[in-house]
Amino acid sequence: MIYFGNLRIPAKNYLPFRRRNSAMVKEKKIRREIENLRDRIRRHDRKYYVDARPEITDYEYDQLMRKLLRLEKAHPQFITPHSPTQRVGGEPLAEFTTIDHLKPMLSIDNVYSNEELKEFTARLGRLLGDETLRDVGYVTELKIDGVAVNLMYEMGVFKWGATRGDGNRGDDVTANLKTIRNIPLQLEQPGDRIPSLEVRGEVYLENEDFQALNTEREETGEPQFANPRNATAGSLKLLNPRLTAKRRLKFTAHSIGHYEGVEINSHMDCLNTFRKLGIPVSPHNSLCHGLEEVYTYCEEWRTRRTGLPYEADGIVIKVNSFDQRKILGATSKAPRWMVAYKYPPEQAVTRVQKIALQVGKTGTITPVAHLEPVHLAGTTVSRATLHNFDEMERKDIRVNDYVVVQKAGEIIPQVVKVIKEKRTGEAKIFKLPKTCPECGAEVSRGEEEVYLRCHNPLCPAQAKRRIQYFASRKAMDIEGLGPAVIEQLVDNGLLKDYADVYYLKPDDMSGLERMAEKSSQNLIEAINNSKSRDLDRLICALGIQHVGSRSAEVLAEHFSSIDELAGASAEALEDIKEVGPVMAGSIVKFFSDPHTTSIMKKLMEAGVNTRSLGAKKTVEKSAIAGLAFVVTGTLEKYTRSEAEDLIKRMGGRTSSSVSKKTDYLLAGEVPGSKLDKARKLGVKVVTEAEFERLISPS
Ligand SMILES: [Zn+2]
Repeated sequence: MIYFGNLRIPAKNYLPFRRRNSAMVKEKKIRREIENLRDRIRRHDRKYYVDARPEITDYEYDQLMRKLLRLEKAHPQFITPHSPTQRVGGEPLAEFTTIDHLKPMLSIDNVYSNEELKEFTARLGRLLGDETLRDVGYVTELKIDGVAVNLMYEMGVFKWGATRGDGNRGDDVTANLKTIRNIPLQLEQPGDRIPSLEVRGEVYLENEDFQALNTEREETGEPQFANPRNATAGSLKLLNPRLTAKRRLKFTAHSIGHYEGVEINSHMDCLNTFRKLGIPVSPHNSLCHGLEEVYTYCEEWRTRRTGLPYEADGIVIKVNSFDQRKILGATSKAPRWMVAYKYPPEQAVTRVQKIALQVGKTGTITPVAHLEPVHLAGTTVSRATLHNFDEMERKDIRVNDYVVVQKAGEIIPQVVKVIKEKRTGEAKIFKLPKTCPECGAEVSRGEEEVYLRCHNPLCPAQAKRRIQYFASRKAMDIEGLGPAVIEQLVDNGLLKDYADVYYLKPDDMSGLERMAEKSSQNLIEAINNSKSRDLDRLICALGIQHVGSRSAEVLAEHFSSIDELAGASAEALEDIKEVGPVMAGSIVKFFSDPHTTSIMKKLMEAGVNTRSLGAKKTVEKSAIAGLAFVVTGTLEKYTRSEAEDLIKRMGGRTSSSVSKKTDYLLAGEVPGSKLDKARKLGVKVVTEAEFERLISPS
């Protein structure tokens, strides 16, 4: 019974109660649907990332993920930290805190020869007693050249993860580790939950992803990483997990730390348990009996490892039995039951014939060493990248020096060091260029810049690189317009910038070397076809410094046309999560350049599409364009982030705190302190209904 003064109503007839009940049933249903979706996505993640045997297409997977995202957005109360949607990366951190490992992460001693390996096993024999020695089983594993991390699972859920640090405590990189797709956020355990489990392993980048990352960095003017391990370490230490999420890091488990509630007696037990729980383990691990089998494994992988998609610089050899490990114990630094057999890196010695200069599309000038051809890891090498002049000076590389070259996940090798003992009087220090080797314009280096740069907008070398980039597969994708053709067209004065591409006539091509009539026709057709590419490709193709293909996609999501992007202020650009002040500044600078204006005009007049082809609607010149909003309290029709997205789509800006610069406070129910502050500062406050009137087209 419900009492309203004298009035009595049976509870089942009281409307608010009935509503609440049906709402509860509905909530339960949605929750079940969300959990069901998460289970399915998790299963497919495992099939794809751990077992490498996907059961559904990428498209079907995307549909599942989209559905989950939609439901979670509408019902944020059901979002959990281990939902697959949380992999996209959370909010940026101000700094890393440290975390104590439950069990210390010790380092490994290295051996470099079969002799040293024999000494290692002999020492084990002395410590264990001779009879037991014959029964020592060793597990051999590839030593992946990555970054060691410790993952903590509580009741089957990924709680935190840290770098090795000093062995006792490391940096809390949980948010970044969550973005690694093959690290399970929830373990697969049908039976009792394991209360606590520390999983140790290696985070790494495959060679192909490493190269793609370096290419992207060169394009955007950022310094390149020397090897996949450095790139991995750098990626794990990014404060913005959204950026880490783009790096395609991978994880492989190789050992166990603290654990409770699970019985494990040997390393093979441990690896099998990991497999059952859905934790990725290398398929190349092997149980060896006796030293001979260990030798054979090490010998086999000495050459086989070059065929792996990642760098493996040695073999880790571990005593299998945990009982034997207990007897053997550890020194203060490393366990006595484990050793790393390191392969010598594939290096070669050769002489630097000359140092040449290369001009990039944004005018970056980089040194390249021309070498006396030498055989290295299956190929003949005659060039090596020196990355930039700082690198060259730090390593003190001179013309005619003998140098050690090495491959590190790259096709182009790098110079490791100079053999100073072999240096003669002929060694010449390479002087930094004062002018561009191609156009003769003065070069300079900005503060905090790694690269020396030619600033001449008409530099033909830059024009060539820019046109190459414009026509490349990830930009406008013009087949047949490759480096050799561009070279000739620029040298013959037919192309000065990439907009000129659309004004080429078949006759222009007839005089070119190795260009048949048929292929010049095909080229004209390919050029015409490229006019209808979507906005993100065009933004990428423009070659704005610091804007690579991924940033271009982000920008194309926020702006519906080139005009709109060109008109955006640095402030509006920085409001986009993925855009930092450097990129924003670079975009504004690019579009304020009169040279850009004339190129844009040429592109548009040629009929190149400059608008988004997606279904995404943006209301142009809306009443709130350019105005700053803060959203607070609970709204009826939107979640707060939906309201913010809407404001941005309408051309407004949003911020999380009220200041003098705020134009409107959109206040829902229970607005809290922001309302007080807005009133104090005289900021206009609108209700949801007033807001809707504001944005509706009049
Ligand atoms: Zn130049």
